Amino acid sequence: MTDARKIALTWKIHESLKAEGFDITGIAQASPHHEDSQHISEWIGAGKNGTMSYLERNLDKRGDITTLVEGAKSVIVAGLRYYSNEVPAGEDNYFVSRYARVKDYHVVIQEKLDRVQKIIKKEVPDAVSRVFCDAGPLTEKAWAIRAGLGWRGRHSMVINKDIGSFFFLGEIVTTVEFLYDDTSARDRCGDCTLCTEACPTGAICEDRTIDARRCISYLTIEHEGELPEEFRGLTENIIFGCDRCQEVCPWNNKAVPYTDKELAPEIPVTSLTRTDWLNMTPEDFKKTFKMSPIKRTGYKMIRRNIDFINYSSPEKG
Ligand code: SF4
Ligand code: SF4
Repeated sequence: MTDARKIALTWKIHESLKAEGFDITGIAQASPHHEDSQHISEWIGAGKNGTMSYLERNLDKRGDITTLVEGAKSVIVAGLRYYSNEVPAGEDNYFVSRYARVKDYHVVIQEKLDRVQKIIKKEVPDAVSRVFCDAGPLTEKAWAIRAGLGWRGRHSMVINKDIGSFFFLGEIVTTVEFLYDDTSARDRCGDCTLCTEACPTGAICEDRTIDARRCISYLTIEHEGELPEEFRGLTENIIFGCDRCQEVCPWNNKAVPYTDKELAPEIPVTSLTRTDWLNMTPEDFKKTFKMSPIKRTGYKMIRRNIDFINYSSPEKG
């Protein structure tokens, strides 16, 4: 491919991603990064993945992206902001993480990137590409950093200096070559430790990873079985996820609410009162969260999380 063609194609892809509503985009050269699988195995070795044993699979693939798409040359990374600032959960509500107040991002991002993938195919008919969004053995944060989208904050999320950290990530791994954004964003956390101090359960580790066994987000969404007694009272009014470490981050002070219409939920989760949640039957739950990431966690686990709170403060049940 000539340089001129590569420049034109790169521009076209960035523009197509913008047209799909993505706020930040970047392209990294696809090459093996065995340090990714090394970091994950150390994290798993320390037991910090909790009951998420699925993360133990395909560790070798995490370190070599060309095992996911043979002959891969590029990793296109796109970020879509999902911040919202509705009235925070009060006495009569439970807290649901912002990312779950919008439509299931797996679906929304997949559809958007599928459309961009078609554009690549049209431009380069023999291209082989694959879309990822929080699924499959792709180290999303590491690739977002390599593509210049931001840096890894102390709370482990990727932060972009313009839009903060409330954004979803999606990727297209492709055999097509582009111009690469190889300027990694510099670490702008400095001496700040606000997230570490705000974390109710001390889940943020020195090495900027999270000990899932202590993280309320993991505990309320992924953890199987009863919630550990040591966290009783610490989950406050949270029944799904936890945004505390992101809420206190100065880089989110100017976070702008999302505007992408495809993210708009069918039912505003923040409008549900405690009584609504408590009266919800399994059938209501299925219907209400048909298009929401909350459905993956399921009725039983959400009820478990509610009971865990109510037992801590029965007067609010
Ligand atoms: S999501 Fe909540 S519990 Fe998890 S690290 Fe952040 S503040 Fe701590
Ligand atoms: S709160 Fe401070 S230390 Fe934590 S991620 Fe944000 S800037 Fe970094």
